[in-house]
Amino acid sequence: MAQINENYLKLPGSYLFSEIARRVNEFKVQNPDADIIRLGIGDVTRPLAPVVVEAMKQAVEEMGRAETFRGYGPEQGYDFLIEKIIANDYAPRGVQLGMDEVFVSDGAKSDTANFQEIFGVDNIMAVTDPVYPVYVDSNVMAGRTGNYDIEKGQYGRIIYLPCTEEGDMKPELPTAPVDMIYLCFPNNPTGMTLTKEELKVWVDYARENKAIILFDSAYEAFIREEGVPRSIYEVEGAREVAVEFRSFSKTAGFTGTRCAYTVVPKDIMIYDSTGEGHSLNKLWLRRQTTKFNGVSYPVQAGAAAVYTEEGKKQIQATIDYYMENARIIREGLQEAGFKVFGGVNAPYIWMKTPGTMGSWEFFDKLMTEAHVVGTPGAGFGANGEGFFRLTAFGTRENTEKAIERIKARMK
Ligand code: PLP
Repeated sequence: MAQINENYLKLPGSYLFSEIARRVNEFKVQNPDADIIRLGIGDVTRPLAPVVVEAMKQAVEEMGRAETFRGYGPEQGYDFLIEKIIANDYAPRGVQLGMDEVFVSDGAKSDTANFQEIFGVDNIMAVTDPVYPVYVDSNVMAGRTGNYDIEKGQYGRIIYLPCTEEGDMKPELPTAPVDMIYLCFPNNPTGMTLTKEELKVWVDYARENKAIILFDSAYEAFIREEGVPRSIYEVEGAREVAVEFRSFSKTAGFTGTRCAYTVVPKDIMIYDSTGEGHSLNKLWLRRQTTKFNGVSYPVQAGAAAVYTEEGKKQIQATIDYYMENARIIREGLQEAGFKVFGGVNAPYIWMKTPGTMGSWEFFDKLMTEAHVVGTPGAGFGANGEGFFRLTAFGTRENTEKAIERIKARMK
């Protein structure tokens, strides 16, 4: 008899976005003429940059000719892309990386979910609350957590680091020892960032406690303010303790194309039961060469084109477009009297629901009164209750229309 991995049974049935879809569909059946604007799911809407499309076309042509055809590529990614990543995303910020410290992949979702495999199941993990749910669910599946407590909206054996209004949505160090720490800045869902000094506190903690930081900087390209670190490696000592996840998804519109990369410095050690240290970089290489066969050549060629002069300009224009949406949402909500976080260095705006209104209650109200769909904060963790996420990834027209409606109907 086939036996299930019982950890999967710990996961509550209804996934956030399917519950949203269910409520929207129900509303549409009852109100077929309602013009619903979706500022909920974090997918992009602008097309790929023309240089990316051109590079991908050329690469496909190469694949169609015997002389230039390529089969399996290196599991870690082609050198032509890794060189550009290091030279453009790290070297100008004073971060030196070796070619074998960067691993090209098909997404930050899969990498952040898979990376935990290298850690023993008895490690104690810490996540911010609210949090991008992938970090939690992947550890649940692996058996590193306890059961889900419906009352609390939390799992056992996870250290949750509350990000609250009083704490300006910034996590504080755990009071009990932890081994794995997931941090994501600029943050999804709060849209907030940490300063270099604030990030250093985490790096120092990890160095003192032999913990490892899993740092997701999928939204670094949206940082507008000088002085906000784009990479954790801008912090002294981070090379010893931090893995960094990056993605072309939001930076260059690759959500449907799939390309990302993960940096695993060779200085990071992970320990066996005798206390002997092992190279995390070597272990991730072993994992990837076993379970992953690389990202397709046309996709990597497209990603490399992002780093041409023309490519940089084109993707910046798209990022500027989204960040103007973010400004419209943030300022519009403030004018309507809402308290908001984020939206300055991130495409997410995290708003407080009025009074004591729950985040699902606010979801229903916004949908029925303004015909605008967002994401209830409770879907990101217990501390997301009382908050609501809007994204800047919509079209300008829809963003403006949504904010006008909120201002007119939600006061
Ligand atoms: N990390 C964070 C924080 C995200 O919000 C997302 C997507 O929404 C991802 C990773 C996934 O990125 P990718 O498209 O590269 O899998």
